Amino acid sequence: MLKSELSDVNLHMEDAHPSEILEWVDRRFGDRAAQLSSFGLEDMALFDMYWRLNPKARVMTLDTLRLPTETYTLLDQTALRYGARIETFYPQMDAVIGMVDSGGFNLFYKSVENRKTCCGVRKVEPLNRALSGVDAWVTGLRRDQGMERGRIDIIEWNEEHSNYKVNPLANWTFEQVRAYVEEYDVPYNELHDKGYPSIGCAPCTRAIDPGEDLRAGRWWWESDPSAKECGLHVVSSAKPNAASSA
Ligand code: SF4
Repeated sequence: MLKSELSDVNLHMEDAHPSEILEWVDRRFGDRAAQLSSFGLEDMALFDMYWRLNPKARVMTLDTLRLPTETYTLLDQTALRYGARIETFYPQMDAVIGMVDSGGFNLFYKSVENRKTCCGVRKVEPLNRALSGVDAWVTGLRRDQGMERGRIDIIEWNEEHSNYKVNPLANWTFEQVRAYVEEYDVPYNELHDKGYPSIGCAPCTRAIDPGEDLRAGRWWWESDPSAKECGLHVVSSAKPNAASSA
């Protein structure tokens, strides 16, 4: 896709419903596209939309081996409800064992460096494997989640993985997502009803208080509020050139 074409598509998609954006993804990339889901509320709404367009829509997830029980329950519910095969990517066990041997099971509480090491082993490396097999990946990122996410485009060329990252919910609010989930009776993680707007690994996520930032419950013990990412969603700065695929 040419850079000018990407700009035109983004302009056109800016006012589009997320389903229209997913329809474009499905038409353009077919089974070379997949949703990357952490099974949060946004991801569940998106998967429901994607599945309505294409019952064989692909969904991938990263099992860090430290997820809350409620998330594993939702994975099972989703597979049953939609007849979906959830493509699950796990960390390399030798890397997990080496990390735990040297840092301990809960090494991430000891330093930011340790936390990044753990996210690297349990998330980023499996992500790289997952994304090496797709031309486009769909995320549930929203601009009003703030920080770097405030600058996302709906469709971005992802230089790091040489593919397209698509954010159909970029313009939606958390309330719109919740309304969709209620209207279509989409299964969701019961932790959302217990004060968790954002859900990651069990030891690194807590409920938030009213008025707190929606991502305040992630790595809450760290003092830097700009460090609420784990390396999965780095905003792309580069754009495709005329030689890029798709
Ligand atoms: S969120 Fe916590 S447990 Fe999960 S990979 Fe990152 S540091 Fe490790």
